[in-house]
Amino acid sequence: MIILKRSKDCYEFLRALKGNKSIGFVPTMGALHEGHLSLIKSSMYDCNITVCSIFVNPTQFNNPDDLENYPSTIEQDVSLLEATGCDILFLPDAYEIYPDNLEVKVPDVQLDELGTVMEGAKRPGHFDGVLQVVNRLLQITIPDRLYMGQKDFQQQLIISRLLKTYYKDIVLVTIPTAREKDGLAMSSRNKRLDKEWRQKAPTIFESLNLIASGLPTVNIDPLIQKALDKLSGQNFVVEYIEVADSDTLLSLKKVSEKDKIIICTAVYAGEIRLIDNILWPENAFQST
Ligand code: AMP
Repeated sequence: MIILKRSKDCYEFLRALKGNKSIGFVPTMGALHEGHLSLIKSSMYDCNITVCSIFVNPTQFNNPDDLENYPSTIEQDVSLLEATGCDILFLPDAYEIYPDNLEVKVPDVQLDELGTVMEGAKRPGHFDGVLQVVNRLLQITIPDRLYMGQKDFQQQLIISRLLKTYYKDIVLVTIPTAREKDGLAMSSRNKRLDKEWRQKAPTIFESLNLIASGLPTVNIDPLIQKALDKLSGQNFVVEYIEVADSDTLLSLKKVSEKDKIIICTAVYAGEIRLIDNILWPENAFQST
């Protein structure tokens, strides 16, 4: 695996291949796990060249403590990427992404409610930071295909708007959420859970499934209340739990058989904020 730390080197390397080789790109913030590797493997299957980036983007953290405590396991990440067969690791420092001489703007994208509900409401500025960094990374890595996780469902919908607006030739591939055996969605932040919270953490996925098991319904509120009770019974502090249309993310009060919905939650397990979601019906989502 080739490790490139400078944006210019990465761009020039890939520019020389562009057109002859298909390029798949997997942006990450490191502390890699099987979920990240499933994106890498999909890209390797589809594309001639797979580029992974590891960059903990400060502009998408609305909480300074979260940024400070974000796990970093770079040596292990490099070994995992090498063992998986990734071709290129782009490993920039903040100056390479946000150099003094370059105004790295937030791209102007029409987000409608996608930007203001759920993560948009609870993490002000988060999606501006995501749009800013992904836009910059796409200019450096010039991919044909971009791989993102369903785990960050709202994020991949927002990035799909970015692609439709500015990068019509890049295909977004959204990969299902990789889970631990007990159902917990894999996440870099899971490394910060103590033993007690780790034991309770499958409740998050169970609560989403509890809602799904009651669908369709003419009144979603009692199902949401049951899920809330289940989570608060284990001392999770629930930021939101939403049943929404999987295209618009508009909240739904009732769900019919024809609807394609996403059930999303964000909870605090002590200090650690975790998110998860499931689609209903299963596999309803078609990546663009
Ligand atoms: P992150 O490093 O958390 O920014 O994630 C980098 C990419 O990996 C994003 O597109 C995430 O949605 C994706 N990802 C994170 N966790 C998982 C998971 N458990 N399964 C599949 N993809 C994931």
